[in-house]
Amino acid sequence: MRAPAPRVTTGEMALHTCMLCEAVCGIRVDTDGERVTSIRGDADDPFSRGHLCPKAAALGDVSSDPDRVRQPLRRVGDRFVPIGWDEALDEQLVDALSGNASFSGVAVTVSAESPSS
Ligand code: SF4
Repeated sequence: MRAPAPRVTTGEMALHTCMLCEAVCGIRVDTDGERVTSIRGDADDPFSRGHLCPKAAALGDVSSDPDRVRQPLRRVGDRFVPIGWDEALDEQLVDALSGNASFSGVAVTVSAESPSS
């Protein structure tokens, strides 16, 4: 799933939505270059009205986690090799359409859930 584009970006602050659960609260993300410096609830968001739970406050840590997966990986034996998005999507599509998926039964699945539940 692709993250939605920020609604408004003004210099070092972007209005966005937290995607960690189905509440999709409005958030204000302050940055210093690539680094997230703070995340606050967006009081102007019509649904969340400034609410922010502790999980969203830690999104900056997730963003800067050195172990964060930032691109598709292909398993090669016991290693994971980085590949491009086009290559990964093409391979998945070809596997799904040809029935050559390396796993049996389900070729494509979508998971939409809340980490809260
Ligand atoms: S994880 Fe928290 S801040 Fe994020 S959408 Fe859910 S309730 Fe809102």
